[in-house]
Amino acid sequence: MERLIIVSNRLPVKIKFENDDIKVIPSEGGLATGIKSVYKNYDGKWIGWAGIDPETLSKKDKNKINDYLAEERCKPVYLSNEDIDNYYYGFSNRTIWPLFHYFNQYTHYNETYWESYKYVNNLFAEEVIKELQPGDKVWIQDYHLLLLPNLIKQARPDVDVGFFLHIPFPSYELFRVLPWREEILRGMLGADLLGFHDYDYERHYLSCVRRLLGYDTLFNEIHLENRIAITDAFPMGIDYDKFHNMAVESRQKSVKDKSSIRQEIEKNYLLTPDLKLILSIDRLDYSKGIAHRLYAFERFLENYPDYREKVSLLMLAVPSRINVEQYQIMKSEVDELVGRINGKYSSINWTPIWYFYRSLPFHELIELYNSCDIGLITPVRDGMNLVAKEYVAARSDGSGVLILSEMAGAAKELSESILINPNNMNEIASAIEHALNMPREEQQERNKFMQERIKRYDIKKWASDFMKGMANVKSLQEKYLGKKLTNHDRNTIYNKYLNADKRILFLDYDGTLVNYERKPQHAKPDNDLYSLLDKLSQQEGNEIVIISSRDKDIFERWFGHTQYNLIAEHGMWIKENGNDWAKLEEDDVNTEWKKFIKPAIQFYVDRTPGSFLEEKTFSMAWHYRKTDPDLGQQRAIDLKEELASQSANLGLEIVEGNKVIEIKNSDINKGKAANHKIKKGNYDFVMAIGDDWTDEDLFGELGQDAITMKVGLKNTRARYSLESFQEVRNLLKELIATYENKYDTVNH
Ligand code: UDP
Repeated sequence: MERLIIVSNRLPVKIKFENDDIKVIPSEGGLATGIKSVYKNYDGKWIGWAGIDPETLSKKDKNKINDYLAEERCKPVYLSNEDIDNYYYGFSNRTIWPLFHYFNQYTHYNETYWESYKYVNNLFAEEVIKELQPGDKVWIQDYHLLLLPNLIKQARPDVDVGFFLHIPFPSYELFRVLPWREEILRGMLGADLLGFHDYDYERHYLSCVRRLLGYDTLFNEIHLENRIAITDAFPMGIDYDKFHNMAVESRQKSVKDKSSIRQEIEKNYLLTPDLKLILSIDRLDYSKGIAHRLYAFERFLENYPDYREKVSLLMLAVPSRINVEQYQIMKSEVDELVGRINGKYSSINWTPIWYFYRSLPFHELIELYNSCDIGLITPVRDGMNLVAKEYVAARSDGSGVLILSEMAGAAKELSESILINPNNMNEIASAIEHALNMPREEQQERNKFMQERIKRYDIKKWASDFMKGMANVKSLQEKYLGKKLTNHDRNTIYNKYLNADKRILFLDYDGTLVNYERKPQHAKPDNDLYSLLDKLSQQEGNEIVIISSRDKDIFERWFGHTQYNLIAEHGMWIKENGNDWAKLEEDDVNTEWKKFIKPAIQFYVDRTPGSFLEEKTFSMAWHYRKTDPDLGQQRAIDLKEELASQSANLGLEIVEGNKVIEIKNSDINKGKAANHKIKKGNYDFVMAIGDDWTDEDLFGELGQDAITMKVGLKNTRARYSLESFQEVRNLLKELIATYENKYDTVNH
């Protein structure tokens, strides 16, 4: 059976000490339910922090806990109190949490936190790596472990890694302020599949990857040096049946099973039978907009005084991260606000806000969801917000109105709720009034759609969809890597090379022989390259041809002093054996079109900082590798369209290369130029290597008998693919060495 390793900050269990005994109680949280449902198909293990300080445990207790956890298919990572302070309360909850929720003002940038975060992620990696067997899949959860995907991938490239972020991913403008932004992005990129709740978070991540790391993305594919990673949106669901069925059951039992909160309300306050109840439930967190909600309720009481004494807000705030000062400040703020509003509006018969600072067991939550007329959920930013889905699921008779912030990830799926902007007090106040007056049939109609939707895409579906996504990425990667040169292929090529008498090697330049990146100085040939090409061209029977779209004058500067064959400008110019440059095509190639096309390209240069126009003898190229990547990509699409419409019927071809759009006469291409060389010799070894769109003509023209290779993970006509320019150089060095070894052995 396949194995799946789940990794999260906390294990899905609670460890309890009772009468000198230890108990391990499995959690009934949503994530655990989802994961358990996919466990049917996998053997597996869950690795995470056990929530217990190892210093307080005797060796015997520790062994006991490990054994109990093993029965639950869990493996603990032990973290010290200091780790928890710096990694959990520090970097995770004072840096990543506020920044990713757009609370830049609360974000701490602290080296100690960062060091601890790296240390703990490494600790998790060690535990995971110890467990791994060939063919395993690993699924990592959430913002505490952003570095873990890459740590695992580096150690075990054969293992499939998935990652899901349960909080928002912020826009580039915000993310870029993080001092460790590149490490975080690269850490996440170790995953083959990166899941987000929402498409917006996904597109923010892709934009950061493009802008900060410079990787190309194609829709949701990220093209790394040696792999493709995929991003996708999987809105997390709830265990719908559990919430709904329990709500139906609790309504039937009704009066007997009152929640502790209801009993408390009845004991302490006057509860008139037709009092309407608005329910709000969240962890006490600044992202949840609790203070905003209180102000909005106050505004409602001001704007609609007739509802005073007829409506109360029942607010449950679950204590959270009390070690973090921002949470303490917030608690005081909320306490004060509740006191002030109640002081201002309360009467003998009525308390506007009932506020409870605690957590509730499941059946009590259900009772509240099911019995309150309105669910008021107004986070200022929330990755998903499961409470909103739970409120809808637990409406056993289909009535009830959900008022939901559009800043919650859940808003996309709960579009029949009343959606509000949490910063707009008047809008929330009037939404409450609207909800109070909504006819029961309309309530049921709206909830019916939402219930059907969240029942269909429940937590089990979420988990199984993610696993399907992992399988799809694997087959996509295999498609791209299918052509990857194997050791067997290499040996065949070396043998062919050794046994041939007359060889020709066509080598593209940028991206094939040198690194292709934003810095132009890296494009110049280096000494290693000269020495490699010298040796290659000096081996008996060899002809090497550097074949490029580059301008002939640049090639003259770089290679004029060598004996290599050069083909420049897509095949317009040729220089053989150190002779002068000659035109390969007819003299009368028309270049009249350039004067019409040039102003169009110039217009794009002016509006796109960092781009430039290169004018060659028979073509014109717009380069955008130094522009902002998103802007460059957008402008490239527009320019292509514009050139296509302007050049119709002119016999021109628009060619897209690596961060360049080029326009040239359509009858000039690398394939034709190569053919010109091939015709002149009787070669028994033909090889061509290139990385670009323009090299496809070359591969096509040389056909199946030639050894054709594409650099990079792209769809290609070539027979093989190589990872990088470095792999090209290594391959050429191997060819040279194989030849030298053979003839050295013969000579001695
Ligand atoms: N919850 C709970 N006990 C409580 C109140 C809430 O277990 O007393 C649960 C609630 O059912 C929900 C989760 O806490 O599943 C909160 O998830 P949500 O996505 O709404 O917010 P988060 O706390 O993850 O930011």
